[in-house]
Amino acid sequence: MSAYLLLLGLLLGSFINLAADRIPRGESILRPRSHCRACGRQLDALDLLPVLGYAMRGGRCATCRCWIGASAPIVEGVAGLCMAAPILWLPLWPGVVAGLGLVVCWGVAVTGLAVRRYATGGRSG
Ligand SMILES: [Zn+2]
Repeated sequence: MSAYLLLLGLLLGSFINLAADRIPRGESILRPRSHCRACGRQLDALDLLPVLGYAMRGGRCATCRCWIGASAPIVEGVAGLCMAAPILWLPLWPGVVAGLGLVVCWGVAVTGLAVRRYATGGRSG
């Protein structure tokens, strides 16, 4: 069960990455589908596989080999741990609720930091 929750946390983590990437730019988080910022290639299932897909491609885009950056798997990994860790200390359902709460807090923190970073330097640079 905790393995499923870890997976759910990883998937939520990849959504956090998407939101943190697009919200500061004022783009929709629903469309278009995720694509490489450098070459525009639409991401396939392997790219979207949290952490594992990243590890298999060495953190680079499969088409243009551009460096994706280390933040994506870290954000996903932390979200996965936030989701799975409370289950070790709490009964199942309170643990799930606590885990979701932690993931939401993590998502808000990551997205908020991205917005701030974009507002203070990204626009002019
Ligand atoms: Zn690319």
